[in-house]
Amino acid sequence: MAEPQFDVISPYNSIDGLDSFRGIWHSHLAGDNLSPDDVHEICRAGRQDFVGVTDHDNRYSILPWSADDWYNAQDEDFLVILGFEATHPIGHVTCLGLGPDETGIDPEAARRNRDEKMELDAGYGGFLRRAYEGGAFLALNHPHRWRGEAEALLSEPDFDLVHALEIYNGNQVGKATAQGYTIDLLDECLTLGGELWVAANPDCHSWDDARSDGPFNGYSVVFAPDLSEDAIIESLKAGRFYASTGLEVDAIRVTPDRLEVSATECDRIAFFGEGGALLEEVEGPEAAYHFTGEERYVRAELEAASGSAPGPDDFPRMAWLQPVGVISAT
Ligand SMILES: [Zn+2]
Ligand SMILES: [Zn+2]
Repeated sequence: MAEPQFDVISPYNSIDGLDSFRGIWHSHLAGDNLSPDDVHEICRAGRQDFVGVTDHDNRYSILPWSADDWYNAQDEDFLVILGFEATHPIGHVTCLGLGPDETGIDPEAARRNRDEKMELDAGYGGFLRRAYEGGAFLALNHPHRWRGEAEALLSEPDFDLVHALEIYNGNQVGKATAQGYTIDLLDECLTLGGELWVAANPDCHSWDDARSDGPFNGYSVVFAPDLSEDAIIESLKAGRFYASTGLEVDAIRVTPDRLEVSATECDRIAFFGEGGALLEEVEGPEAAYHFTGEERYVRAELEAASGSAPGPDDFPRMAWLQPVGVISAT
């Protein structure tokens, strides 16, 4: 058989031998009267291995819990990664692995901007670069306001340093599905050559899973060598994860000519490419997509016919694989 005349680039090429860890990395403690230990307990009951705590920078100077309180709530089976949600002019940005002070953000100025309508410089100029160079994992959250404006978004200063786009944000889906479900914007960005990983998060402001702003309706399954902050952040940056609203993927395999995926509880697998075009759709728990070499990118979306994401909003149980780049050699 002739060799394919194209190259395939996928974060899943390097997941053999890695363990998988389930976690949420956009969450807030504000609202409920809970402690980091309570959050640990709730997360373990919700079968999560790690939590990224990302309170708003404009709440940071008045948070009741210190970093030590959070780190003390860890044990060998449960990892806490601290970060924050920057109130950046392009939108809310998750900065995972670094605090505001480590990225030049002034939380008190951010708080006064919000609470007192002051126009203080909270340090957003150059923030993305400082955070990136400091080793943080960066994601643009609930980006619905950029829908139809991908070109403008991609040309924002340093936006190329942002690793991921939230295509599912449970908190916003609780308000309106179109507001929290933005897979169309990801396709717009990828089509224009943007390089962004697909992400789903609860953005929980409550830790009650019966509520639409509860904790586990969107999460990531990360492939990493161990459950440490460095390993999880490195894998998130490299795209070694998939995003889910409650559908678990059993196997992902990318070869030089196809993308294979299987998930026991899945009823439909769809493959999408440039422009968000549907390339192929398969009923059932497994599928293999054969690349033609013309796609530029292919991403897989899985859906279960029954059940819904935790919470009251009836969002289907889905999983989104990271886009695979298909680069023509000619
Ligand atoms: Zn936000
Ligand atoms: Zn948030």
